[in-house]
Formats: sequence, C-alpha cells, structure tokens
Amino acid sequence: EQGNLFEGQDPAARAEALRREIEHHSYQYYALDAPTISDAAFDSLMRELREIEAAHPELVTASSPTQRVGGYVGEQFAPVVHERRMYSLDNAMDLDELDEWMERTAEACGGALPPLCCELKIDGSSIALTYEDGVLVRAATRGDGTTGEDVTVNMRTVRDVPLRLRDEARGAIAPGVETLELRGEVYMPKKSFEALNAAAEEEGRAPFANPRNAAAGSLRQKDPAVTKMRDLSTFMYAIADDAALEVEGQWELLQWLRKAGFHVNPDVRLCTTAEEVRGFCRECLDRRESLPYEIDGVVVKVNDFARQRAMGFTARAPRWAIAFKFPPEEKTTLLRDITVQV
Ligand code: NAD
Repeated sequence: EQGNLFEGQDPAARAEALRREIEHHSYQYYALDAPTISDAAFDSLMRELREIEAAHPELVTASSPTQRVGGYVGEQFAPVVHERRMYSLDNAMDLDELDEWMERTAEACGGALPPLCCELKIDGSSIALTYEDGVLVRAATRGDGTTGEDVTVNMRTVRDVPLRLRDEARGAIAPGVETLELRGEVYMPKKSFEALNAAAEEEGRAPFANPRNAAAGSLRQKDPAVTKMRDLSTFMYAIADDAALEVEGQWELLQWLRKAGFHVNPDVRLCTTAEEVRGFCRECLDRRESLPYEIDGVVVKVNDFARQRAMGFTARAPRWAIAFKFPPEEKTTLLRDITVQV
C-alpha cells in the first residue's frame, strides 16, 4: 500500500525521503547494531528507491545508498583503508530472479553457463584477516567497503581464527607474496545468541535483534575480554587478491583455506547446470532450521577467477556473484515492524 500512499508524490522528493530513512536505519543497524525495523521492511525501502532511480536515472546521486556498500566506521576503532575494496552482494529474491542472473552470466561468458560455486550465505558480519609471512597481523571489518575498523585484538580472541597459517598451505602462495588478506564471515551460533539474550534480559540490558547484530556488536567491543566470552566463530571464503595464490577458482580456494587452517563451511557445491544450482538452493532452504547457525540464503559465484576478473564489479557488488535470499524466517521478533512514514 506504500506505493499508493505516495502516488502522485514528486519522485525526487520521495527518493530523497527514502534516502534519509534508509540512512537512519543503516546507522541503527551498522553503527549501533540495533535495528528498529525488520530486514524485510528495510529491503522494501531499498527496493522502492531502486525502482525510482531506475525510472528516473537523473535522480541517482553518488551518495545514494543504492550506489555503495552499506556500513559504518566507528570512532572507537582505528580506521583501516582496504587495499582492495570490500563489496556487498546483489540479491535474487526468488528462483526466477536467480534464473535471470544465470542467463545474464551465461551471456557474459560467451553463451554457456560457466561452473558456479554455491555456498551458504552465513548471516554474520564480514571480516578481513591479513597475514604477513604467515602470521595474523590485522583484522578489519568491512565498514563502508573502502574503510573498515581495526578489530585485531578482538578477532584474536576468536578461537577458530588461526594466528599462523599452516605450513602445508605455504606451497600455493605465489612467489614473492608476503602479505595475504583472507576474507569471510564472523558469526554467532544460534545457541550462543539465545544464551546471550537470555542473560541480557535477566540483567535488564537490551537484547540483540538477531545473531547477525549480536556478532557485529560482539566484535565491536572496546574490551576484547567481552568479545572472548561471546563465542564467535568464522567461516572463511575469499581472498582479497587472487593473484597472491596459485589457485584457479573459488572451489580450489576453499580447499586451500581449509588446508591453511581456516574454518570453511562444508556445505558447498560446484554446479554446472542451472537446475543443479536451483536444487542446491532448495536443499539448503530445507536444511536451514537444522543448522546451528543462521543463514539467509545461498551465494552463487562464477567459479573461475579469470572469468570473475572479466566480469568485474558494480559500485556495490560483484557482477560474478548473486545472493539467492531466503524468505525471512517466521518467528516472533523483538522488532516492531513499524510502518514507515516519510
Ligand atoms: P548482505 O548481507 O545481504 O550480503 C553481503 C554480505 O554477505 C557480504 O558482505 C558477506 O559478508 C556476506 N556473506 C555471507 N556468506 C557469504 C559467502 N558464502 N560468500 C560471500 N559473501 C557472504 O548485504 P549487506 O550489504 O551486508 O547488508 C544488507 C542486509 O542488511 C539486508 O538484508 C538488509 O535488510 C540488512 N539491513 C537491515 C537494516 C534494518 O534496519 N533492519 C538496516 C541496514 C541493513
């Protein structure tokens, strides 16, 4: 009904109102780790803004939330300028949108669908880990994609993060490369999230809205001892510069990460047909409840790094990947799903 509500409103004014509303909620979410509307409500604001901008390209501004990675760089942490930008992901809201992306991808790759690496979309917070001569020297959040926050001391307390890469993995590092930046997701298992919120309630503190906000909030603590108690885990899945490793694609990278000592999610499938990809998405949706951590979809990536490079990035996301988003989970929520009046 929101569309009707604003029917006839000047698109420029509506776009500006939406941007302000989205900025406000992004601040609540990324800076305070305390959203006040559901993700579905937030996504519908973004969708409306995208639709207005698609119909009126002259209204697109460089600072529009549609043109950048949503995030925040807090002042309590030293800023880290990412040597290579960190991106978000474009979404497919249903299997039809996923099919459309696969069609576009096949077209971009000369007509045939290239092998696609399908992974769970872990509902946590992005993290970048830098190793120098095999030793962990820095951990940074995604922030706004260009600049993140230095959370090294906190990430050192996360038990599955190797402080040193395993020797077995050294052989695949390209000659002359001393620094490696690996990326992934830091998350809070469902059980730990429930325990944390139960304790918060007992102590009269505000609970976290979901495990993702709890993970982000626990990572961004002033006192690393607090982070240590929060039971965070990681799943690593990316490298900032794939030329630093002698691997050809995503599937091989995941094997290497495992060899190097990282926690890598076992639910991954290398698919060669669209039907296989759809099948994997359906299976993961069915198994969602039984997993000990939250997932909000499946990430489908063009496997081959050379192809990825050829496809490149938009202002906020790679063209070579798509997030197939699951419908929001039906459960009692702590959030008020307020109708946004702008
Ligand atoms: P996103 O979380 O939808 O997708 C991008 C992220 O997915 C990546 O940065 C990466 O960290 C992560 N990811 C997890 N598993 C991955 C894998 N296997 N491979 C690659 N990446 C993987 O995008 P976003 O820009 O971080 O956040 C947007 C989300 O935040 C939306 O769902 C939106 O609803 C929510 N949000 C909500 C509010 C609110 O007020 N409720 C405000 C802002 C944002």
